[in-house]
Amino acid sequence: MPELPEVEITARLLDQALAAAEIESAFAPGINALKTVDPPLSELAGRRIERVRRRGKHLIVEVSGGLALLIHLMSAGRLQLYDKRAGPRDRTSRLLVRLGDGRELRLREFGSKQAAWVKLLRADELEHDPALATLGPEAWPGPLPLEQLLDAPRPLHSLLRDQHTIAGIGRSWVDEILWSAMLSPFKRGEDVDEEERERLADAITATIERALAHYEQAVKLPIPDKLPMPLQVHRHEGQLCPRCASTLKSVHFEDYVIAYCPACQTEGRALKDRRLSRLLR
Ligand SMILES: [Zn+2]
Repeated sequence: MPELPEVEITARLLDQALAAAEIESAFAPGINALKTVDPPLSELAGRRIERVRRRGKHLIVEVSGGLALLIHLMSAGRLQLYDKRAGPRDRTSRLLVRLGDGRELRLREFGSKQAAWVKLLRADELEHDPALATLGPEAWPGPLPLEQLLDAPRPLHSLLRDQHTIAGIGRSWVDEILWSAMLSPFKRGEDVDEEERERLADAITATIERALAHYEQAVKLPIPDKLPMPLQVHRHEGQLCPRCASTLKSVHFEDYVIAYCPACQTEGRALKDRRLSRLLR
């Protein structure tokens, strides 16, 4: 599940490795992956990669001559750099960017769904593209205007994951952040008081920075298929809370499974399932 920390470390490592690399050619073997037709991918040939950066959970590869690849990894994509070209049996690649020095940048996707996507845009279209234009402020490095962003009758779990509210946080890191801030995932944004807001702001920054520090040590190119996510709470239900040693619980909310510590986050209460299927009935 690439979220802000995973996309950020991908952008940092690729930015260092690809500076000034010349593109020989580009193809999109995944029929669904390329979402734009003009300019065509053939326009990339002969240009140089200038920069790789992140916005929300998106990767942006800036190319000389005013072009940019906008990439969303969705839930199972990776952007990986290899010394050799993909073989004929490669079925995971959605985009191949062949470099003049023999290396190859591949957007690969694991699992049965084809959801990861790519757009080739002119640099002046980039910030107006709906995928970026509708994003909220970056979760990191902040500071976030939380008072304004949270002023809604929606649960914190929804608000923090909503890319239009805050960009970068998804289903894994939201559990870690709310646990770190000692806040219930179901607490409504508008009910969060000033002291809780400060705790939440600190938790967002600290959680993301801890993850990035871990990845700086643990991740090398090519970005591994399975990222070593340093999660302590998400998917750890049934295990002991690292803070208070009570047992972590989980609850279904819409189509998510949230892990939390009842002692640290909900005054000892167990949260009741709020499945989407039940809400829709
Ligand atoms: Zn606890």
